[in-house]
Amino acid sequence: MLVTRLIERKRDGGRLEPAEWSALIRSYVAGDVPDYQMAAMLMAVYVHGLDRSETAALTDAMRRSGAQLSLAHLAGARVDKHSTGGVGDKTSLVLAPLVSSLGVAVPMMSGRGLGHTGGTLDKLESIPGMRTGLTLAEAVAQLKRIGCVMMGQSAEVVPADRGIYALRNATATAESVPLVASSIMSKKLAEDLTGLVLDVKRGSGSLVQSLDQALELAGTMVALGDANGCEVVALLTAMDRPLGRAIGNALEVEEAIHALQGEGPPDLLTVTYALGAEMLQLGGVAADADDARRRMEVAISSGQAARRFQEIIEAQGGNPGVVDDPAVLPQAGACELFEAPRRGFVARVEPRGIGRALVALGGGRVRPDDRVDPGVGFVISAKPGDWVERGEPVATIFARDDAGIATGRAALRSAIVIADEADHPLPLVSHRVTIDGVTRVS
Ligand code: URA
Repeated sequence: MLVTRLIERKRDGGRLEPAEWSALIRSYVAGDVPDYQMAAMLMAVYVHGLDRSETAALTDAMRRSGAQLSLAHLAGARVDKHSTGGVGDKTSLVLAPLVSSLGVAVPMMSGRGLGHTGGTLDKLESIPGMRTGLTLAEAVAQLKRIGCVMMGQSAEVVPADRGIYALRNATATAESVPLVASSIMSKKLAEDLTGLVLDVKRGSGSLVQSLDQALELAGTMVALGDANGCEVVALLTAMDRPLGRAIGNALEVEEAIHALQGEGPPDLLTVTYALGAEMLQLGGVAADADDARRRMEVAISSGQAARRFQEIIEAQGGNPGVVDDPAVLPQAGACELFEAPRRGFVARVEPRGIGRALVALGGGRVRPDDRVDPGVGFVISAKPGDWVERGEPVATIFARDDAGIATGRAALRSAIVIADEADHPLPLVSHRVTIDGVTRVS
C-alpha cells in the first residue's frame, strides 16, 4: 500500500475502499505509517468529509485495531454513555456510578481532553492514585465484581483511536462529523455493549455546532450501532454555555461528587437524569422515564450512588476518601474572584473561550505528551438569563500563579457577556434520535 496515493485521493475529494481503510489503520498501529502521514490524511478527511459507508469502514478498521471485550458471559445488560465533548461536562462521572448502582453493568471507555473540550480520563486521573489505563483482564474482572469500570482506550483496546485522537487534538482536526463518529463508535463497539446512550452536544462550545451537524452526527452513530447489533439512543443537549459551574479536572470531580450526593447544579442534574433514564430503560431495569427518575433519586438520596463511586475509585487504585473529603484533590496555587463589570443580564457565557483558557492555564494539552495540571480551572456561577449587579462575584479563577490568574481574567472578560437583554439559550435537552427517527423533546 502506498500511503501517499491514499492521502492524494482523499485530498482530491475521492473515496477509499473498506480494504484500504483497514490496511491504512493496520499499518498505522504497526508503526509503518508515521504520524505526519496520518495527520495529512486526517486533514483531508476534515476538509472533504466521509460518506456513511466510508465512516463505517473507518470505524470498523479502528475497532479491529486491537483486542475487543467479550462480555456475553455476564448476566444482564451492559450499557455505556458517551458525550461528543463539551466544556464542564462531567455527566459521565455521575452516571457511571449512579446507573451501575441500580443494577446495569457500565463498562465505560472514555477519552482525554480534545481541542477546547474536556475529557473524562483527565478528570478521573485528578483523583490521587486513580488509574484509567487498565488491561482488558483487569477491566473484565472489575466489571464482574462491582458492575462498573471507567477506563481509556489503550495499547490493547482500540489503539488506533489513541494515536488518532492525540493527532486530531494537535492538528485542529477534532471538529469533524466522521472523525468524531468513528472515534466514539470504534470504542463503544469494542466494549461489546447491549445498549449505548450518546450525548450529542450542540452549540458554540461543541465539536459540531449547528443543529443539522448534530443531527447528522447522532444519526451516523445510531446507524453504526444498529448495523452492529447495539441499540443506540442519542440525546441532543445544549453546549452554548458550560454545563454546571465547574470547569477544570479536579474542580469537575468535586462537582460530580456533589451531584452524586444530590447537591449538583440544576442544569447538570437535568442532563444527567435525562441520559440516565435512557440508560436504565435500555438496561431493562426501568419501565419508563418516570420510573427511572425515581430510582435515580433514591440511589442518590440513600448514598448508594456515592458509595459505588468510592468502590470504583478504590478498585482502580484511587483514594476513595475523596468522596467524603474532596479537599484531597489537587488544589490550585492561586485563586481570584471575578466580578461583573456592569449591571445587567448575563447574555452569554461562551464555552469555547473558557475551554481554550483552561488549556492555556495548563488544564488541557497543546501537544500529545503535555502534562495536565489537575487543579486549575474556573467555577462560574453566572448563567445566561441571570440578573447581576456591577461588582457582584460571578466566577472564581483557579490558576498555578499570578500569570495564570491574568490569563483567566482576560478569558472571562470576553466569555461572560453582560447586556441590557438576555439571549435565548438552547434547551438543555432538545432532540431524541433513535433508529426510528428524530423526536423533539422540548
Ligand atoms: N469523544 C471521543 O471519544 N472522540 C471524539 O472524537 C469526541 C468525543
